[in-house]
Amino acid sequence: MKLNELNKTTSGFTETEKMPVLFIGHGNPMNAITDNVYSKTWRAMGEKLITPKAILCLSAHWLTDGTAVTMVEHPKTIHDFGGFPQELFQVQYPAPGAVDYAKMAIECLSSTIVHEDFEWGLDHGAWSVLKHMYPKADIPVFQMSIDYAKPPQYHFNLAKELYALRKKGVLIVSSGNVVHNLGVISWDGKIKAYDWALEFDTLVKKSIENNNPAALIDYQKLGNLATMAHPTNDHYLPLMYTLGLRDKKDQVQFFNESMDMGSISMRSVMLS
Ligand code: ZN
Repeated sequence: MKLNELNKTTSGFTETEKMPVLFIGHGNPMNAITDNVYSKTWRAMGEKLITPKAILCLSAHWLTDGTAVTMVEHPKTIHDFGGFPQELFQVQYPAPGAVDYAKMAIECLSSTIVHEDFEWGLDHGAWSVLKHMYPKADIPVFQMSIDYAKPPQYHFNLAKELYALRKKGVLIVSSGNVVHNLGVISWDGKIKAYDWALEFDTLVKKSIENNNPAALIDYQKLGNLATMAHPTNDHYLPLMYTLGLRDKKDQVQFFNESMDMGSISMRSVMLS
């Protein structure tokens, strides 16, 4: 897209100061209804940040063939999990949709055809976190799906096209986990953190600190370490959006830097 076209796309929206970008490690769905160190931090973040005009969430739990953006006025709360207490299934997060901002996002995404979605709402990757950050559910939210057929580099590049939203009051929240291996989870808590999980988590931290996204885009080069950290990369790909949205002036801040159940890194990042 040419610059003058981009200006046309976003001109109807007020220019704001640059919004931060977040990667949130969401972990166990029970965090949605648990008062713990993770949810407390999410709540504090919501209180601290400039109030966004809208939130764009990229969740590990909306994987599609191609890219879609939700265009719904009233996104439904999707309970996309099984085997949890009834209380979790009763949670509703009735935030309004953000159709105008979704249209702006679609127009920014010039390198791919984006499907306008009227079916999806908010999956737990989005609402389990937003419920704590913005408990009044009064900030309009829309989601963008993750094209699961595409490699990390594709997502990193695509994110750059969304950069203009940061100056239109949109808080872009990517929700996944820096390490995510459910197969070896320590349910009884006996294993606090696997060595390989800590190794991968530290590598992510250092690469972000050194502004070396290439190391994270090409993470599969790490071989077995990469496969252990992410047997499938659904929870890793959201991080590519945060990295792609980074600009030279962004400061890095980590939070929730701990491993949950041995193999789930809750490490979260704010660029601002
Ligand atoms: Zn998840």
